[in-house]
Amino acid sequence: MISIKNKQDCSGCEACKNGCPKDCIEMICDKEGFLYPKVNSERCIGCNVCNNICPILNPPNNEIYSHSYAGQIKNEDVRKRSSSGGIFSALAGKIISEGGSVFGAAFDESFYVHHIEVKNTDELDKLRGSKYTQSEIGDTYRQVKEILNDNRKVLFSGTVCQIAGLKKYLGKNYNNLYTVDVLCHGVPSPKLWKKYIAEKEKQYGDAVERISFRHKKYGWKIYSVEFLFKNSTENIVPFGKDPYMRFFLSNISLRPSCHNCRFNKIDRPSDITIGDAWGIDNIHPELDDDKGTSVIIVRGEKGNQLFDAIKDDLIYLEDDVDKLLPPNSGGRKSVKPHYKREKFFKEIDNQNVNDLLKLLKIPLYRKVITKFKAIIRKCVR
Ligand SMILES: Cc1cc2nc3c(=O)[nH]c(=O)nc-3n(C[C@H](O)[C@H](O)[C@H](O)COP(=O)(O)OP(=O)(O)OC[C@H]3O[C@@H](n4cnc5c(N)ncnc54)[C@H](O)[C@@H]3O)c2cc1C
Ligand code: SF4
Ligand code: SF4
Ligand code: SF4
Repeated sequence: MISIKNKQDCSGCEACKNGCPKDCIEMICDKEGFLYPKVNSERCIGCNVCNNICPILNPPNNEIYSHSYAGQIKNEDVRKRSSSGGIFSALAGKIISEGGSVFGAAFDESFYVHHIEVKNTDELDKLRGSKYTQSEIGDTYRQVKEILNDNRKVLFSGTVCQIAGLKKYLGKNYNNLYTVDVLCHGVPSPKLWKKYIAEKEKQYGDAVERISFRHKKYGWKIYSVEFLFKNSTENIVPFGKDPYMRFFLSNISLRPSCHNCRFNKIDRPSDITIGDAWGIDNIHPELDDDKGTSVIIVRGEKGNQLFDAIKDDLIYLEDDVDKLLPPNSGGRKSVKPHYKREKFFKEIDNQNVNDLLKLLKIPLYRKVITKFKAIIRKCVR
């Protein structure tokens, strides 16, 4: 039966839970707020399915990289409501128009994040937009299998560890399954997210009505976090000033497995990868209007087929993958944890979010060391 000795060895993909024939695996929150499998040993029959389908213990086959593009969906309204260039919506719209289902991350009524199934375009808004916390898979892998066996098409979207989990759970190739992952440098703790929502509701005196992590009021590059409350108050803050985003982007609040991600290579188990085309203004300024441009990495026969099917809906160009997504970008390599990560999670229950910000203050001696290293590097050059 599955047993996690080192937390970096579990991405929380929930394949083991979905695959257990006795339903004796529960996902339990640890002190940091991340889910890990726990086996009910009284009901376990020792079949070992869980170990065999864990994508960290037995990685799935990778699809092989073939083309990379930068692009935007032509529909301006959809692009405005998407985090980057709206490529996800083009892919999802195509599958739905062919009678298929789309799976992805959505907020529930408490603004916690779960994977859900969407069957019509009116509901696609639920999946649109990045939600920067780990999404719970629940029993969606089982739902996907049923739909595939019913000969309907499925587009499954998520982080690449979730795609890896789905592929291992299914255990065989399905011609009617398409997968798209969002470039991902890590997922922040759902516990921190819940705490942040609760503190915001207290501060603004009412429950949350709407949240956007990637509002484009001040543009795509300086994106903002927007909270709208039921009493009609709005709080909209550029990402660099939002405490939750500051924790996320300084790598203090991420899941341990994200610091040793097993799947973030150019060849990976998904058919298509989408992300932000940061830096597009330097290499292809004609594709930058600060309203959102995506990088699109296509793999294998199915990836190419799917991209061909949506390209009339896009403005796009092809370029070298290392130019569009340099090898040191988040999403292509694992990030180091912030040096105060441990302290952060020790203090998370006792301090409010704004007080925790003090952990991000850089002490003078570290500033001096960084400056000194920069001078040495300059001299060497
Ligand atoms: C946790 C996280 C970290 C990311 N890190 C990077 C990064 O380092 N570099 C980069 O270039 N891009 C990153 N992205 C991707 C980027 O934010 C956009 O999601 C991506 O460019 C797609 O944009 P879009 O305009 O095509 O579609 P959108 O409509 O904006 O994206 C919707 C898609 O995102 C998926 N999604 C949203 N939230 C989650 C979640 N919590 N878990 C799994 N899937 C989710 C939905 O299922 C759907 O497929 C990250 C996204 C997430 C969720
Ligand atoms: S060994 Fe089999 S029954 Fe036991 S937890 Fe794993 S999958 Fe479930
Ligand atoms: S299958 Fe997924 S959730 Fe289960 S142990 Fe492996 S990585 Fe963790
Ligand atoms: S960094 Fe890797 S392990 Fe972490 S959520 Fe993203 S894909 Fe999964």
